[in-house]
Parts: sequence; C-alpha cells; structure tokens
Amino acid sequence: MKHKEKDPVCGMAISVQDDTLRSVWQETTYYFCASACKEKFDADPEQYAQPRECCGKHQHPGHRNHGECSH
Ligand SMILES: [Zn+2]
Repeated sequence: MKHKEKDPVCGMAISVQDDTLRSVWQETTYYFCASACKEKFDADPEQYAQPRECCGKHQHPGHRNHGECSH
C-alpha cells in the first residue's frame, strides 16, 4: 500500500514504496528521497524529526511519541 510521507531533511513529498529509504527513530518511521537525506537524518535525527501532533489538537514540541501526552 502506498502512502505519502514527507522527507524530514529536504521537505520533499515522497510516495512510499517497499524500497523507499527509511529510518526508525523514537518509534517513528521517517522516509527519505535519497541516501544523502537518510545519512543526514541518521547523523542527527533530533535536528530533523518533527514534533508529532499527539492528540490532533495541538503540538508538544518535546513529545514525539504517542503515549507521552496524558490527554
Ligand atoms: Zn530528501
């Protein structure tokens, strides 16, 4: 099944396929358009990973995983 993801390094929209480059960081999978982007992410994931919307209403910059938000 294909879905759209955003490359966190360069911001490019990606159609995710079975062979799309990816890294898992803090239980979240990030997808990349090219190995250069993946290498940048792997070297410093905190710089590139986006804060996740934990409950769909607002963002907690320090919270990147489901379950960290208590509401
Ligand atoms: Zn990229």
